[in-house]
Amino acid sequence: MSQVNTVLGPIDSSELGFTLSHEHITLGAAGTAAAYPGFQDLNAIADAATAALQEAYDGGVRTIIDVTTLDLGRDIPLMQDVSRRSGVHAIPCTGNHLSIPRIFWGAPVDKVAALFIKEIEEGIEDTGVKAGIIKVASDRGGVTENEETVLRAAARACNATGTRISTHTWSPDRVGEEQIRILKDEGVDLNRVYVGHSNDDTDVEYLVGLLEEGVWLGLDRYPGGRTPETPRWEVRTEIVKQLIDAGWAHRLMLSHDHSTPVVQPSDELRREREAFNPDGYLFISRNVLPRLVELGATDADVNTIMVDTPRRFFED
Ligand SMILES: [Zn+2]
Repeated sequence: MSQVNTVLGPIDSSELGFTLSHEHITLGAAGTAAAYPGFQDLNAIADAATAALQEAYDGGVRTIIDVTTLDLGRDIPLMQDVSRRSGVHAIPCTGNHLSIPRIFWGAPVDKVAALFIKEIEEGIEDTGVKAGIIKVASDRGGVTENEETVLRAAARACNATGTRISTHTWSPDRVGEEQIRILKDEGVDLNRVYVGHSNDDTDVEYLVGLLEEGVWLGLDRYPGGRTPETPRWEVRTEIVKQLIDAGWAHRLMLSHDHSTPVVQPSDELRREREAFNPDGYLFISRNVLPRLVELGATDADVNTIMVDTPRRFFED
């Protein structure tokens, strides 16, 4: 058992229950809510997110790891409101996504790491809410110079506090391998590292290679298939089954990378998002898990992936 920080305070890892390992309550951009009040109706977003997560709670979801960073518009009071009203635990993050603040460019790694450590040990902004995970990101083409600064800072914050790292990758370019190389260079215990977005491709040899390094794997884009080059959800689910059959259920986590559609800037985009995933945070429960069982996975496998593995990820 270990303590895990949520937006409503620390809980015991045994309370996490059915966990989605990479989600967003809402997405925006750093500073826009304060600079441009009214552009987004934050009350409407909070209500929509609460309704979506209440439905998820009724469908069995108990915890989401909310990897919304500063540059993705992290809004701790809104997350607290939604978590309180929906009953779903939300684990907030420090770290950074792809829009790295200019002030970090070329900054000393330790100076950036100190910011992440402060958000873990003292709290995020003035909320007193402590981060429960460290998010980092690299995308097509691999780790850029400024992303490497953040990645190394995340590594040092992980080493200093034991807080887990969750990565955004682009699996067709095998970006996870490059992240692992840098994290190893910083001496990070890879048992504290989750390599996410590892299901935008079907290269099982790449995935097993990552698992053999000792990381946890996030097959956390569902339904997926928004761009023609990435696999549809049915194919993604066959890969999950292949990894279960290869003995890796105890290192796999599933999630959607979903966020509340109401944040889309226009009704047209919102409708497109809703059509893309009408089940929201329950797409996995309603589609993927039944399909896995159809393919021959056991209820115990499903419980391992959705409950035991995320809990163990946070435990020492
Ligand atoms: Zn995401």
